[in-house]
Amino acid sequence: MWSDAPVTKRIAVVGAGPSGLYAADALSSAGADVDVLDRLPVPFGLVRYGVAPDHHSIRSVRDTLQKVLEKPGVRLLAGVEVGRDVTVDELVAAYDAVVLTYGASRDRRLDVPGEELAGSVAATDFVAWYCGHPDADREGMESALAAARSVVVVGVGNVAVDVTRVLTAPLGRLQATDMPQHVLDALSRSSINDVHVLGRRGPAQATWTTKELKELAELDGVDVVLEDVHDLDLEPVSAALVESDRVVARNVEVIRSWAEHELDGTHRHIHLHFHARPVELRGTDRVSTVVVERTTVDEAGAHGTGETYEVGAQLVIRSVGYRGVGLEGAPFDDRRNVIPNVEGRVVEADGSVVPGLYVAGWIKRGPTGIIGTNKKDAAATVASLLADLGDVEGNGGDGIVALLAERGVDVVTFDGWKSIDAAERALGSSQGRERTTIHDRDALMAASRG
Ligand SMILES: Cc1cc2nc3c(=O)[nH]c(=O)nc-3n(C[C@H](O)[C@H](O)[C@H](O)COP(=O)(O)OP(=O)(O)OC[C@H]3O[C@@H](n4cnc5c(N)ncnc54)[C@H](O)[C@@H]3O)c2cc1C
Repeated sequence: MWSDAPVTKRIAVVGAGPSGLYAADALSSAGADVDVLDRLPVPFGLVRYGVAPDHHSIRSVRDTLQKVLEKPGVRLLAGVEVGRDVTVDELVAAYDAVVLTYGASRDRRLDVPGEELAGSVAATDFVAWYCGHPDADREGMESALAAARSVVVVGVGNVAVDVTRVLTAPLGRLQATDMPQHVLDALSRSSINDVHVLGRRGPAQATWTTKELKELAELDGVDVVLEDVHDLDLEPVSAALVESDRVVARNVEVIRSWAEHELDGTHRHIHLHFHARPVELRGTDRVSTVVVERTTVDEAGAHGTGETYEVGAQLVIRSVGYRGVGLEGAPFDDRRNVIPNVEGRVVEADGSVVPGLYVAGWIKRGPTGIIGTNKKDAAATVASLLADLGDVEGNGGDGIVALLAERGVDVVTFDGWKSIDAAERALGSSQGRERTTIHDRDALMAASRG
């Protein structure tokens, strides 16, 4: 039957994290059909595999994001890895436009000798393990944890705070989360007494937020110690920061209150070290000591003083940032670790626009901001996309569903995700919890089949 009705535009979104789902929401509200692809069999990206499981209200953003997947015209195609199961070029050919929102979840390196020793792990990997990511190195993480009495966490951002809290929190707090049972078991067996948090600059330059910082001292059975009170003698550059930024002023105030407080002799200590940068990890077969150099801070950053000391640690968690990686078929800026773009339109190194290709979220702007930042960011990209497509009719295709079937790719649809969701709730309920994350990829695939 012939019809004069315009053909709806069909857009592919690569990545079902917050930026992908916010983009899908804006696109479907503008009348487009959207396929949201993700390499994992489940949606939500770092909201599921990054945000700390004991931060219940932030994790509940999933409920809002799930509503996008329930919208008519939005299809979830999970378990599909772009670059492996289908190429960017194939997507560009099959859809009216493609939005890349595949995040930035690789670790940054410290580049110090000994970084490769056993017991030295990236926060990205530790977080993936405790969130039950299917690719997590369970054996490596659990053996590192079992060997540890003292831990060094390198970095003073919110991820470092999350990691420190998970390592020191009383088990009751963690039991009320959806962490996999093997994670709870490993944490309950741990004999960690001390966690040393290292910041290469002063307390004023730490990037954690006050609420997250304060939470550390609120943990039952945990004391926070400022290792060197002289870290509170603020250099001019730090004093200026305190003057100009209320969050910084509050953070420094919180740390000052800890410097004055008496230890009550409880068994777990969090030691804050500022002006402290790791210069070497030492150990024979695995890490046993971190060599730390004292620094001074000025407008140009942190400078080593040559004065060093050692911190004993059997586990070192490097939390110095996330970074994006390139995807074949899309330009990539190796220096900034993002996809180069102008207002969300992907551009080549010479500035020319790549037709049909857009970008949003962490892979567009780097690992900054809160979850909500991705909403505005995705909306801006979608505005560029809609302006480019204008009133042109859609190509009328059905995306890559047939191609994936031909290639034998086991796609998890929204119904499949709902089955996984039900299986996780049932598993949780059998353990007296609301939900338990299923961490094994085969088990997730089996659950998706109901
Ligand atoms: C440890 C940690 C804790 C955090 N805690 C908070 C918090 O408490 N509050 C807060 O506001 N923000 C928090 N954030 C930040 C927040 O998670 C990010 O802002 C947000 O997840 C970025 O969204 P995104 O969609 O760009 O990337 P992601 O969430 O990383 O989503 C990207 C998606 O793309 C998929 N993907 C990757 N490669 C491919 C491929 N080749 N093919 C198909 N799919 C692919 C991934 O599987 C993933 O699902 C935290 C981040 C981290 C790392």
